[in-house]
Amino acid sequence: MADNKKILVIGGAGYIGSHTVINLLNDGKDIIVFDNLENGHIETVEALKRIGHVEFIKGDLRNFEDIEDVFKNHKVDAVVHFAAFALVGESVENPSKYYRNNVLGTLNLLDAMVKYGCKKIVFSSTCATYGNPKYVPVDEKHPQNPVSPYGASKLMVEQILNDYDIAYGLKSIKLRYFNVAGCDSQARVGEWHEPETHLVPNILKSTFSGGKTFKIFGDDYNTPDGTCIRDYVNVEDLADAHRLALIYLENENKSDVFNIGTERGDSVKNIFDSCEKVIGKKINVEVAGRRAGDAEALYANSKKAQTVLGWKSQRTIEDSISSAYRWEEVLQEKLNGVKV
Ligand code: UDP
Repeated sequence: MADNKKILVIGGAGYIGSHTVINLLNDGKDIIVFDNLENGHIETVEALKRIGHVEFIKGDLRNFEDIEDVFKNHKVDAVVHFAAFALVGESVENPSKYYRNNVLGTLNLLDAMVKYGCKKIVFSSTCATYGNPKYVPVDEKHPQNPVSPYGASKLMVEQILNDYDIAYGLKSIKLRYFNVAGCDSQARVGEWHEPETHLVPNILKSTFSGGKTFKIFGDDYNTPDGTCIRDYVNVEDLADAHRLALIYLENENKSDVFNIGTERGDSVKNIFDSCEKVIGKKINVEVAGRRAGDAEALYANSKKAQTVLGWKSQRTIEDSISSAYRWEEVLQEKLNGVKV
């Protein structure tokens, strides 16, 4: 029996997905989380269930029946799709994994949507679809020349979504995220990758007992302090962009694409200095070689999201660091029993 209209969040047990679920619960939505728990965590699902009405379905987009069953048994109003592998380096080494999951998995999802008449989707795209920027800040008209299978897989889905709109009337909002930082301000969910590769959690993890010395990947770039520049958007702000994208789809019934960033470029050294300031400790650091595939400087022009969606980055990088630190304390206790 079909039930009331719901938002289906694919990858809702992951980092950005879980923060978006909280945002949508606060907005009064009923949520179905679909996740294969390969990178997501059951503890995250349990935390979400304590906040509001969440149904969890364990399934894998690579199996058409798994996702078809969801549409067969529920009345899904719209989909927000996060599930993807997202490590650039790994995608270079194992493109098959990336194209099978990120592209073929998404095709299964879209075909199930078309079959059951669900016509609205918000898709997690990325600034990695632009490749090495020809200019910054990067706007949505910047040419898309991804330099990794990860970026290529996301661009392919963008193109498939455009074709599915023309052929089947499936409306999509593509959100091209820049870098993401921070955690739920109540530390109920947070950034929990194994292994962790991202900048802010890696700096913070190095301050706990047993943590590895934080390594700066390259200080010989052509930037003011020699380290790479990125645009770090707060995850709760990013989550809100999905709420606004759903409203836009509902009201305008039109496909579109938006950059989601703060429009501010921070170097690795800036972020490191802010972490020391926010947590009030000296942090051990060493300079290591460059990491393959890192662009020198990448930050967003996000004006279109501002004018069309009414979205603007609100929280500062200090907000993101302090919420990420609070979450890291919770995570250390969960994983290592370390009471901080
Ligand atoms: N970075 C670093 N040390 C780390 C992790 C990241 O110096 O332990 C640098 C990385 O080289 C890049 C920036 O921090 O310049 C952001 O990297 P992250 O992996 O967080 O995101 P990406 O830009 O790759 O999506």
